[in-house]
Amino acid sequence: MKKDDLIVLAGAGGFIAGALARYFYDQGFTRIRAVDKKPLPEWYQRVPGVECLCMDLQYEDNCRRVCEDAVEVYNLAADMGGMGFIERFRVECLRSILINTHMIESAYRAGAQRYFFSSSACAYNVELQKDPNVRALKESDAYPAMAERGYGWEKLMSEMFCQEYWAERGLKTAVARFHNVYGPCGTWDGGREKAPAAICRKVIEAKDQGSDEIVIWGDGHQTRSFMYIDDCTQGIDMIMHCDELIATPINLGSSFLISINDLVSMAERIGGMTLERKYDPDAPTGVAGRNSDNTFIQHVLGWEPSTPLEEGLKKTYDWIKQQYMDRKAGKRTVS
Ligand code: NAD
Repeated sequence: MKKDDLIVLAGAGGFIAGALARYFYDQGFTRIRAVDKKPLPEWYQRVPGVECLCMDLQYEDNCRRVCEDAVEVYNLAADMGGMGFIERFRVECLRSILINTHMIESAYRAGAQRYFFSSSACAYNVELQKDPNVRALKESDAYPAMAERGYGWEKLMSEMFCQEYWAERGLKTAVARFHNVYGPCGTWDGGREKAPAAICRKVIEAKDQGSDEIVIWGDGHQTRSFMYIDDCTQGIDMIMHCDELIATPINLGSSFLISINDLVSMAERIGGMTLERKYDPDAPTGVAGRNSDNTFIQHVLGWEPSTPLEEGLKKTYDWIKQQYMDRKAGKRTVS
């Protein structure tokens, strides 16, 4: 890539593509086009010098416009959130297929050299995730397919688009299956937030309100792995530019498995308090266990996400605390 090649980032008003705009800017790229349907004041990050467009990418005309002159296109736009969102709003999740369908066609027509799609661990067969002591998921576990209803099936189908655009039309595509990503400048309230942000917020809230209780969704025994945002942006860059990985879905996630109960203990340690746990058995919890098998990424890239969870969670906690205080003071915050 030349430093003045045009990079298009879809979903850049959100968490990961916002961080990617910052990442490429810091690498010295001078032409970055960031796009999101959210009005500009609601973007999580605005990077100086980056062209920011407010456009709905469900529409083909808009996709054509944003892909003009693009050398690389990264599609991270999707209607998504934590379990509370994806279990309840399956139609919204499924409709994200429109974004990828039009973005990949537009990237192809614009003559882009490479196209990235952000898939998810939710594309994996749910039958393999019924035990908290789960066997980590390897790339071949997506088939035979029984993905998470709605969100997961959209990801699996969009992955197939990426594979067929390479097979039939020669567009170099990259597909990363993210396992939970967390970090500063992500959703932390409002219903779309994921477990690490929600738990940090609950601890901060309890501390601020002098409460000694925390509500945990499910029984807290469900397990997950969590990847820090800096590992995610670096991983996207490496996967996108590896010819061995063209049209080949690959895990991008941490392989450190932790239960939600242990994640709460970690947030309590960071916050310097211990709370009484109330369990909500009716809350959405998703699969019992999910972890990333990193054998393939290690083999191809000689690398895997490695930021220690407690280190990343501390940075996330501090950022959410600042957001919480800012909101209390009547200032604008990201969610
Ligand atoms: P996010 O919600 O913070 O960002 C997504 C952005 O897409 C939002 O700003 C939203 O406004 C935008 N968007 C939605 N519909 C749009 C449309 N029609 N046109 C233009 N913009 C639109 O989410 P994120 O955490 O940054 O996730 C980015 C991608 O990574 C998504 O594809 C998501 O499914 C995937 N992913 C994320 C995680 C995670 O843990 N965060 C895990 C697995 C996969």
